Amino acid sequence: MTKKVSLHIKCPKCGESLMDPETLILDYPSIKFNIVTSNDRGTLRLCSIYGCYSHTSDIDLKDGEIVNFICPKCNKHLKSNDECDAPNCNAPMVPLNLKLGGKVFICSRKGCAKHFIAFEDLATEVRKFYDEYGF
Ligand SMILES: [Zn+2]
Ligand SMILES: [Zn+2]
Repeated sequence: MTKKVSLHIKCPKCGESLMDPETLILDYPSIKFNIVTSNDRGTLRLCSIYGCYSHTSDIDLKDGEIVNFICPKCNKHLKSNDECDAPNCNAPMVPLNLKLGGKVFICSRKGCAKHFIAFEDLATEVRKFYDEYGF
């Protein structure tokens, strides 16, 4: 059985935790965002398990739609200058800070599974990551 890694995500702008322990997805606290699409606004919760794409939203998201992620704590748009390099995507990547250090980038396009983890200080941050999750 593969070990599940539940990520603890913080806002890259204000540093506040985006974890919502009151709303679980697959038994783990969800990651909560406010979102704006081309014609609506609402709330999106992502599963915190790395590599899992389960999510819930109180508005309808069409496949292929680009979603603007907004921190519910500081109301800043979470968007990086990096674009998704999946074929025909080019949507802005959403930068999220990991509590342990380093960042996760996720694609802002609904249905695109592109994501990656980036560590600024590989040696110590990867070690912390491995210590915490034990693999
Ligand atoms: Zn924030
Ligand atoms: Zn993408």
